[in-house]
Amino acid sequence: MPFSELGLSPKVLAAVEAAGYTEPTPIQAQAIPHALAKRDVLGIAQTGTGKTASFVLPMLTHLEKGRARARMPRTLIIEPTRELAAQVEESFVKYGAAQKVNVALLIGGVSFDEQEKKLQRGVDVLIATPGRLLDHFERGKLLLTGVEILVIDEADRMLDMGFIPDIERICKLLPFTRQTLFFSATMPPEITRLTEQFLQNPVRVEV
Ligand code: AMP
Repeated sequence: MPFSELGLSPKVLAAVEAAGYTEPTPIQAQAIPHALAKRDVLGIAQTGTGKTASFVLPMLTHLEKGRARARMPRTLIIEPTRELAAQVEESFVKYGAAQKVNVALLIGGVSFDEQEKKLQRGVDVLIATPGRLLDHFERGKLLLTGVEILVIDEADRMLDMGFIPDIERICKLLPFTRQTLFFSATMPPEITRLTEQFLQNPVRVEV
């Protein structure tokens, strides 16, 4: 199936073409139409399968409508490590160049002040590691009640790193009515339990 049949916006399709991609990878072909239809998605896929674009591209299409308010990010992506968070930010820069998306990265090792200033200006996409996200929340600089789309990426790595209690806390701070896109390379029982708790009638996509 060509990219043009997945339902992505013309701007996003132009970015895909500029990136030189000729056709979607299997995870993209299967996940993108459901993500655009606002379904919750459980994607079982490893790094290297093109899974990042499978959530970034529909998110960019979604974000073309609407506008961010101060301290209330419209979408939230949780990553287990700073490096993965920074890579996802690069994907937004690459695919979102033609549209004005405000992306903020909340990771450790960077000053709170700069991150708070960005939050105050209004953020379309917040990419965060769990600990730093909760630090900002506790300082009262972040409201999670406006999140329209939540992405949990590399869930099994979060489990290995002991982040599941943080993820549960974060999920409980988000609005019930939202879309959740959830990715994991493997599905140990703790991760299955998490998906049962926080996904609503998800489409399961496995590559
Ligand atoms: P990921 O699995 O998201 O880490 O992506 C792995 C690599 O595949 C990245 O370097 C992407 O730029 C590249 N990529 C993603 N989607 C496609 C596609 N449809 N065609 C060719 N390369 C792609």
